[in-house]
Amino acid sequence: MQIDHYVSQLLDVLSTRPDEIALRYGDEALTSAEFAAAITGAAAALRDRGTGEGGVVALLTVGNSPATLIGRYAANLIGATVVHLRGINAADPLDELPVATQVEIVDDTGTTVLLTDAANLDRARKIRDAMAEPAALAAFGDFGDDVADLTGTASEVEPRAEGTAVLTYTSGTTGRPKGIGRGFGGLGAVVTKARHMTERCTMLVTTPLSHSVSSTVDDAVASGGMIVLHEGFDAGAVLEAVERHRVNRVYLATPQLYDLLDHPALGTTDHSSLRELYYGGSPASPVRLSRAAEVFGAKLIQIYGTTESWVIAALSPEEHLKPELLTTVGKAVPFVQVGIRDPHVRHELPAGKTGEICVRSPMMMDGYWKRPDLTSKVLIDGWLHTGDVGYLDENGYLYLVDRLADMIKTNGIKVYPAEVENALLAHPDVAQAAVFGVADEDNVEYMHAIAVPRRGRDVDPADLAAHVARVLSPSHVPAEIRLRAELPLTDAGKPDKLRLREEAKPATKSSHAEP
Ligand code: ATP
Repeated sequence: MQIDHYVSQLLDVLSTRPDEIALRYGDEALTSAEFAAAITGAAAALRDRGTGEGGVVALLTVGNSPATLIGRYAANLIGATVVHLRGINAADPLDELPVATQVEIVDDTGTTVLLTDAANLDRARKIRDAMAEPAALAAFGDFGDDVADLTGTASEVEPRAEGTAVLTYTSGTTGRPKGIGRGFGGLGAVVTKARHMTERCTMLVTTPLSHSVSSTVDDAVASGGMIVLHEGFDAGAVLEAVERHRVNRVYLATPQLYDLLDHPALGTTDHSSLRELYYGGSPASPVRLSRAAEVFGAKLIQIYGTTESWVIAALSPEEHLKPELLTTVGKAVPFVQVGIRDPHVRHELPAGKTGEICVRSPMMMDGYWKRPDLTSKVLIDGWLHTGDVGYLDENGYLYLVDRLADMIKTNGIKVYPAEVENALLAHPDVAQAAVFGVADEDNVEYMHAIAVPRRGRDVDPADLAAHVARVLSPSHVPAEIRLRAELPLTDAGKPDKLRLREEAKPATKSSHAEP
């Protein structure tokens, strides 16, 4: 089947309802015609400056802004590859990648154009000056002689689609960012499917547009709907936007779903317009999910996937109404084959046996950008190894135990943090929890836990320790349990265990509790 260029398809849809709002960002609202004109105008400006197939446009813009979205569509329309550098995000200035990492990425990708904005201009100049072969700078607006202005009026542009459309660098909760390429074909297929959606999608986007899951914004455009863009996540702002714009689809990182459930305005705002509340990205607590199911009923959809594999499994809205299924991440989605493999003997394990979750799927990556050494570690015999541990039951439901890399060897046993996090989250006074291993000066690993008490509750770490001992066993009790008002999260909304581990490092043996 011939699949048209994904941006051409989106432009077709935008042309059918030119006067309707397609994109909202703060007080700004762009009609479909304005949105389309900005895309084709920027594409023509890029093309006229010599960028096209084989070119690489890096986006260093306020993460979730119209410039990021328009820049991606414009560059892809003329066949250039897009890479997100994640610019300063007003909602969380700590979120940005270090300049050195950004220079590494632009050099690694052979970036030809660095698209930036007012908030990121100084940083963009620093990056350009440090590049082995400096890229041209571009922005929307007049930013000086060394910055090309991509603001243009609607133009005829011949669509091109060769090679990699978008390069995503994984958020890096366990290591250095790695580039993962996605082709034009996959994006085209997703948009073709979304054009047949019967309901127009009003989608609220709070996860960074640089994250793979956010490419679902294409669905909203393809369905003839509207995107409501927030720079970051704020539970109160989400509830307000859902009510005000009659949002029917939202994607949240799992800890953000908990925040929404705990927000005092939940009971007083109208969220009846929501049809699909997607969540995922980190292990979910069955206790919190059953509460979510009470509030949101058959609207919840859990997604399990990785940047490398794309979506692997999903737990449907109906399945959320069966309490016994709240411990699974659901079944493999169409076209995806899941195999549980033993990392040592490399063969497939039968139902009920725990091993590494491996995937075969048309959506999975071909490999890490220019990193055959890393690729051969995860793409083995046609199977993509996810680094997650889990098992399948007789009915094909996939159960996730944890990430291989997060496993803690402590007190002589192997502990998966998700188990202990779930035990902590089952305590009535705990809102969020993160458990991780920290090696002491003798390289002995100890388990640390951070618990965030629910609003207005007093929590005693000793009570939490006793609770974990009761629910699991005394050897599952973390050596240290600390309380914090909130968890540091990655830009994708996951508990930032790298940061937590770093902060916990000075721990000395004397602070380790006896199990
Ligand atoms: P890096 O791979 O660089 O460490 P990251 O962890 O943020 O960064 P992603 O590809 O975004 O990279 O995360 C994928 C991981 O998130 C999965 O391997 C899995 O451990 C976890 N995950 C995703 N969805 C779920 C889910 N529904 N339940 C539990 N864990 C999930």
